[in-house]
Amino acid sequence: MEKKIPRRLEGKVAIVTASTQGIGFGIIERLGLEGASVIVSSRKQANVEEAVEKLKSQGIDAYGIVCHVSNAQHRKNLVEKTVQKYGKIDIVVCNAAANPSTDPILSSKEVVLDKLWEINVKSSILLLQDVAPHLEKGSSVIFITSIAGFQPQGAMAMYGVTKTALLGLTKALAAEMGPDTRVNAVAPGFVPTHFASFITGNSEVREGIEEKTLLNRLGTTGDMAAAAAFLASEDASYITGETLVVAGGMPSRL
Ligand code: NAP
Repeated sequence: MEKKIPRRLEGKVAIVTASTQGIGFGIIERLGLEGASVIVSSRKQANVEEAVEKLKSQGIDAYGIVCHVSNAQHRKNLVEKTVQKYGKIDIVVCNAAANPSTDPILSSKEVVLDKLWEINVKSSILLLQDVAPHLEKGSSVIFITSIAGFQPQGAMAMYGVTKTALLGLTKALAAEMGPDTRVNAVAPGFVPTHFASFITGNSEVREGIEEKTLLNRLGTTGDMAAAAAFLASEDASYITGETLVVAGGMPSRL
């Protein structure tokens, strides 16, 4: 049976970074189907245009702006163009991340460490500095962290540590941005996207992960999108500073 999607976000304006494919696209599509006007962005113009067309074909009010999250001018432009067009911002989902290397932490090059912190943590803070003056009362910020943030290890150890930082950032900004803005996070388990293909593309590794979940499957972009839409909606109006783990029951204690 097809799931009925509620329309909880009518009249809202939502920015999702890195939203032209994978989890980001799943989230922006869901926010749009729930009635929000959505601003799609990523590094490549062609990807932005393609995503906007896909969203529009579903009747979603979508607008595309190129934004490499570590480019200050791109972030500024993203916020300015959104405000020029819609006059406000209600929802921001910080979804962009990089995992440039699988080296152990103690052999990671400085340039890799810098990139991880810059894309996965710092750029979200800087974007929110630009966004904050335009946020409406009742607005919502959502970070996309990871199950790897709870157990940073192996090929994703340093990446995982940057995702652990987002758990703290969620708590800190919830205190700083309340009461008008709620700040929460979604921690996805393993979802077969381009980003995770080096893990989920290997059938042995994939089966190992499936076994580690209590639901015997990988996550879907739709699973993540449903969690983000809930947190963005009035249904979560008394939830702030929390991380919703969407990982099929994989262990998630620090
Ligand atoms: P994905 O399918 O590979 O999609 C990546 C998206 O990010 C693309 O739209 C890409 O478009 C854009 N992008 C890449 N670098 C960017 C940058 N510097 N600035 C702006 N946009 C950028 O990735 P995904 O798996 O959905 O990952 C999304 C988020 O989920 C990340 O935060 C990741 O850490 C998190 N996550 C994923 C998993 C998983 O298993 N997949 C698990 C836990 C957490 P362009 O190429 O056009 O820029």
